[in-house]
Amino acid sequence: GENILEVNNLKKHFPVRGGLLKKVVGHVKAVDGVSFNIKRGQTLGLVGESGCGKSTTGRTILRLLEKTQGEVFYQGQDVYNLNKHEMKNLRQKMQIIFQDPYSSLNPRLNVSEIVGESLKEHGIARGKELRDRVKDAIEKSGLQGHHVRRYPHEFSGGQRQRIGIARALALNPEFIVADEPVSALDVSIQSQILNLMMDLQEEMGLTYLFIAHDLGVVKHISDRIGVMYLGNLVELADKKALFDNPHHPYTRALLSAIPPSHPRNRGAREQIVLKGTIPSPANPPSGCKFHPRCPEAEERCSQEVPEFKEVAPDHYVECHLY
Ligand code: SF4
Ligand code: MG
Repeated sequence: GENILEVNNLKKHFPVRGGLLKKVVGHVKAVDGVSFNIKRGQTLGLVGESGCGKSTTGRTILRLLEKTQGEVFYQGQDVYNLNKHEMKNLRQKMQIIFQDPYSSLNPRLNVSEIVGESLKEHGIARGKELRDRVKDAIEKSGLQGHHVRRYPHEFSGGQRQRIGIARALALNPEFIVADEPVSALDVSIQSQILNLMMDLQEEMGLTYLFIAHDLGVVKHISDRIGVMYLGNLVELADKKALFDNPHHPYTRALLSAIPPSHPRNRGAREQIVLKGTIPSPANPPSGCKFHPRCPEAEERCSQEVPEFKEVAPDHYVECHLY
């Protein structure tokens, strides 16, 4: 298939201000040169510990945050070079689902108002068409008809996530950034939401960027997986290649953390415990940013920044070992 999304060397740096005059004293390199493509109808899982820049990557692609550098192409169109009208159209095609649906749902609106809000606000639909589209989105997300007059606080976490999904679906999107949509949910509810998202993908031909901090969560839903560490993509590969033949020491550590008894990790691995904690992105380590925690670090790792290299067809790794 064709690429629906192309991200080239994307950077998002946030200024850090300090002192009496609140001058810029440094930058947090939240996203520091990330490149990947997503094919239409596929899912790229983006994984890493909190603070690694995965949410910022998703938001910068959607222009909920403005990039510092790099390029984002959606269906060949430069997302950062669109006029107002084109951007408005694109906003409908690209949607986001949040980790905590509750904080993103207006507590004063009932379900049908929440789902119809953007359609109404942007003058996309009204009257019967509005009602039909809202009804359709609510049905697709697995909520029942009697739910539509209720308010967010009356629902469980899983049902609230269905409201968040219905709200995104109402705009008839093509591409959805799912930012840890199941991280706050119980495991049994997680699989319901994941299955719903996979059914919707098949039915509507959706493309997902699916963000999670756990490789186990993205395994089932992803076609390809990218692993991020401190603002960089350190490995990118087909799901099978990543699970069967992980190259980067960080990917191996993440994989080893999935319990062997877990159905998502049948090939048991010895757990690799990383030393230390994730450093601050405001003051990242020199050379390979992973070197202070890497069990396989060599001398040059603290000095030379590794390149993001293709080590096998469509399998990319950022590490001096390759
Ligand atoms: Fe480890 Fe060196 Fe590879 Fe970085 S470049 S992951 S420190 S071996
Ligand atoms: Mg996040």
